[in-house]
Amino acid sequence: MNDRFIVTIDGPAASGKSTLAKLLSKRDGFLHIDTGALYRTVGYALGLNPTKEQLDNLDLTVEKKDRIVIKYKGEDVETFIRTEECGMLASNVAKLEFVRDFVNDFARKLAAKGKYVIDGRDCGSIIFPDADLKIFLVASIKERALRRAKEDGKSVLKIEKDIEKRDKQDKNRKVAPLFKPKGAVEIDTTNMSVEEMYLKVKRLIEDRYEHNNS
Ligand code: C5P
Repeated sequence: MNDRFIVTIDGPAASGKSTLAKLLSKRDGFLHIDTGALYRTVGYALGLNPTKEQLDNLDLTVEKKDRIVIKYKGEDVETFIRTEECGMLASNVAKLEFVRDFVNDFARKLAAKGKYVIDGRDCGSIIFPDADLKIFLVASIKERALRRAKEDGKSVLKIEKDIEKRDKQDKNRKVAPLFKPKGAVEIDTTNMSVEEMYLKVKRLIEDRYEHNNS
């Protein structure tokens, strides 16, 4: 039996990645590594144009709870990094190769023995190409904007524009663009409830687990 089981979840902004990862963490004991949160924290701490030296000296620590809590200067920055402005900052620093190397190393070092769910844009393609299960989540732009609007109360139209712009940037960048990783199972969640999405993925995990251990 393998002593590590990795599920990667990739997809565009607001496609349901973190909702799914949180459920797998809460109900099934997967430790959640949110790579988007790492890019957001780098953007939040260092702004649009970080240097390699600044990144090497970044005071970033983690605490292992049900999720990997990322701390900047010893403080949990979760509440500060969730704005769409910070999402765009993250998308900009994510174009820099040395930032990507930093995040990839960080995530790989965290996933030692155990069950992990890792979400982002290149988790199944670049960070863990040999993951046990790769999920690629998609949903219509309208549905994704509606979901975000429910969370933060902003206008659907404004959110739609913002996430469309960020998706375009993430798909068209030179380094590690967003695409469906080889071997990934694509799930369109536009007309699916959260529970339906979760149950579909849980079944896929069980199948893969049985397959690995047979
Ligand atoms: O997933 P989240 O919206 O928190 O990600 C913020 C930004 O970080 C994305 O728009 C993307 O540019 C970048 N990102 C990335 N690769 C990942 C995770 C996030 O480029 N694995």
